[in-house]
Amino acid sequence: MKTVITNAEVEGRYVSVVIDGGNIVEIAQDVVTREAATQGANVVDADGGALIVGLHDHHVHLLAMAARREGINLDPLQTPLAFDDALRSASANSEAGWLRASGYDEHRHGVLDCRRLDALVGARALRVQHRSGLAWVLSTAALDLVLSGELPDGVELDSDGIPTGWLLRLDEWIADRIPPTAPSLRGVGAELAAFGITGVTDATPNLGQGRLELLRSAASDHSLPQRLVLLGVDDPAAVADFARVGPAKIVIDEVTGLDPDALARIISAHHLKDRAVAIHAVSRAETVTAVTALALAGTHPGDRIEHGSVLPDDLNAILASGSVTVVIQPGLVGERGDHYLSSVDSEDLPFLHRAASLQSAGIAVAIGSDAPVTSADPWAAIATAATRRTRSGNIIGESERVDARTALGWYLTDPLDPGSSPRRVVCGSAADLCLLDAPLDEVLAAPDSTHVRMTWVGGRLVHS
Ligand SMILES: [Zn+2]
Repeated sequence: MKTVITNAEVEGRYVSVVIDGGNIVEIAQDVVTREAATQGANVVDADGGALIVGLHDHHVHLLAMAARREGINLDPLQTPLAFDDALRSASANSEAGWLRASGYDEHRHGVLDCRRLDALVGARALRVQHRSGLAWVLSTAALDLVLSGELPDGVELDSDGIPTGWLLRLDEWIADRIPPTAPSLRGVGAELAAFGITGVTDATPNLGQGRLELLRSAASDHSLPQRLVLLGVDDPAAVADFARVGPAKIVIDEVTGLDPDALARIISAHHLKDRAVAIHAVSRAETVTAVTALALAGTHPGDRIEHGSVLPDDLNAILASGSVTVVIQPGLVGERGDHYLSSVDSEDLPFLHRAASLQSAGIAVAIGSDAPVTSADPWAAIATAATRRTRSGNIIGESERVDARTALGWYLTDPLDPGSSPRRVVCGSAADLCLLDAPLDEVLAAPDSTHVRMTWVGGRLVHS
């Protein structure tokens, strides 16, 4: 069905935009008055609100977002007492079976082990995910179920050789030992659409058949309406019916060891197959290793650094000359900034979550939320990029501020070319659109997701 959006602000002009067959087919000053254009069409009066291309979040983890929505979300809880209350009442108010919680943060929720969990949930099997996603803490009943005689590396033991409840970097190992869950992606799709997000790049490594099936079915019944780019897939043909494939995701981790030569060989192997790489690198040691390996292997169009949370500026030249895009997360400055100020090495602070200095060094930048590690709300991240303000009002890296329009632009780039210039509302392009309730300058003066009025993907209304 044809849709006509009248009186919309597009790049500072007030126009009418005609959508048909999933594409923008006309942008006109006068279409409102021409009956032929609006006849039989669904007419939306934008009332002067800005119409922009839909946002693309260049780094999310969709199934982890869905799992977090269904489990107990500890992230908003600010005290150990609130943490205890949440787990105790979840246990009392749910039926038997596994309990799952995520977002545990030792700085706000206190020290954790299986004994503290047992005191809260008794003999229930409970697993609590650390906010980093890299560790779980299990209750004793849960430990008994997953360990059953095994003791793989990563199971933390106390001085008497007894498991403390902590399982480090054993995510897939645990998943193989508990009843499978099939979290629904419908809520995730709706949440993203309400933010004006029309596409996402899922950065989960090694997605595997089971998870791909969940994504395929959510895409095909439109419960997940966004356009999808997947990094953790080897064969693009295997997902061509519902997604496109981006660079190959590579995770490096200073805890398990960093080897630039070995990493360079892995990068080269992907480049030989004409595939770019997306390297997860957070700490200084990891970003130095990743960029060194890229220099050794040579770069390929589309190569990316994911996060680059501490990125020393002596890496600038390689990143800029190799056209490597850094996919940043300004939202973390707001959500975790207060903790950074007390925990990050002082020599790393100037290089923490850089933004403006990347751009001025000629380095391509895009934004990914890394949801559910941080909120998927792009408007909150844009506001933080412009202010660099933490939750408690501290400022981190004032010189890294960018204006809100620049930060929004980093969400508007091509899904397969995140470091490029923003897409635009033009005739002939796909109708992936976000309608705001006010002119763009007004929205960007105080970015907030409540300004998102309607969202379309391929001409289909997915949020109103
Ligand atoms: Zn991630």
